Amino acid sequence: MSNCLFCKIINKEIPSEILYEDDRVIAFKDVNPQAPVHILVIPKEHIESANDVDEGNSDVIGHIFAVINRLVKELGIDKDGYRIVNNCGEFGGQTVSHIHFHILGGRQLLWPPG
Ligand code: AMP
Ligand code: ZN
Repeated sequence: MSNCLFCKIINKEIPSEILYEDDRVIAFKDVNPQAPVHILVIPKEHIESANDVDEGNSDVIGHIFAVINRLVKELGIDKDGYRIVNNCGEFGGQTVSHIHFHILGGRQLLWPPG
């Protein structure tokens, strides 16, 4: 997707602080962190949102959760706990139309969200 911000990050056309990368996913620091730890994990395949996940492309979503498990241990937030967030669509607060999972941690998070 030529005009997608996160595809540009994947293609290194826009700089980011990458924490993990393999052939299917990339994890990088959120530029506007909402917690001491705020990482985004995204598939390299352009999937717009949770609405577009199906049997044909969902393997990478499982892989993303395995990568998240590895990252939270490396970052030392696994024991205290953290939050994985996927915003979908306008009411969900999605601002970038390339599916992404936020990892938020390093402080007590509130519930319910706004
Ligand atoms: P969402 O609101 O769920 O779509 O999340 C999009 C996230 O992308 C926000 O938390 C932004 O701070 C983050 N973001 C936007 N541009 C960049 C960028 N260039 N590098 C890293 N994170 C970004
Ligand atoms: Zn994209």
